Amino acid sequence: MSERPVAVITGASSGIGAATAVALHKAGYQVILGARRTDKLAEVAASLENAMYYELDVTDAVSVEAFCAQVPHVNVLVNNAGGAWGLETVANAIDEKWEWMYDVNVLGLMRMTRTLLPKLEASGAGHIINVGSIAGREPYVGGAGYNAVKFAVRAITQVMRLELVGKPIRITEVSPGMVETEFSLVRFDGDTERAGKVYQGLQPLVAEDIADCIEWVVTRPPHVNIDEIVVKPLAQASASVAARKL
Ligand code: NAP
Repeated sequence: MSERPVAVITGASSGIGAATAVALHKAGYQVILGARRTDKLAEVAASLENAMYYELDVTDAVSVEAFCAQVPHVNVLVNNAGGAWGLETVANAIDEKWEWMYDVNVLGLMRMTRTLLPKLEASGAGHIINVGSIAGREPYVGGAGYNAVKFAVRAITQVMRLELVGKPIRITEVSPGMVETEFSLVRFDGDTERAGKVYQGLQPLVAEDIADCIEWVVTRPPHVNIDEIVVKPLAQASASVAARKL
């Protein structure tokens, strides 16, 4: 194990998590990556000296325990694994989709946090970054299942600030607007055409823009807690209002 402080990043096999691995590595962290697709994790880790990666399914308590057992100490936990599935109205809601969204975005975050909290505290300078969303602040038609889980992420982050005050653990929520990643592909069951339309006619954020925010909050002096950051593309004013040149 190197002398670098350690950052654990969930959902590091693509998008924001993968970009955060690169950014925190550059910022001087040893990164430990988790996700279900270990082939993708291997690709991300390949160029990052001392990076480690292990299979992780945050919806599976046994997997979370096994992953966290491989982490001897940790300074930063980025709870990034998550996503949306579907865009059905409440009238047409599909239980399986809502259950998956709750499991990965809410219970997954809780399981990882609960398990690593003692090690984060023992580090003497811990930091938890929860990746929320503007969907956690602004409801939109068809968004209820995803809105509900990202509103929950926001609530949990705020409760943790209250519960952990006085301990050496910073808590931050980073809430992106539109970022072009695999997010929309997952949301629309691999439908590339439908996913592409989400970003049509505007310049979305890229994963590196969010990684940049995460790197910035982590590298503030230890007494400075950035509570929350909301970041959207210039062309996006709210969850459902964007300027498109079509
Ligand atoms: P992405 O490219 O689809 O990445 C999602 C990551 O989560 C993948 O690495 C995926 O890895 C991982 N993941 C999914 N289920 C998992 C599970 N059960 N256990 C462990 N890892 C799991 O999308 P992204 O945009 O980077 O999303 C990252 C976070 O940003 C999510 O929390 C998302 O809700 C949030 N967000 C995204 C946007 C956006 O517009 N893109 C906006 C606001 C918020 P495996 O499939 O390999 O497990």
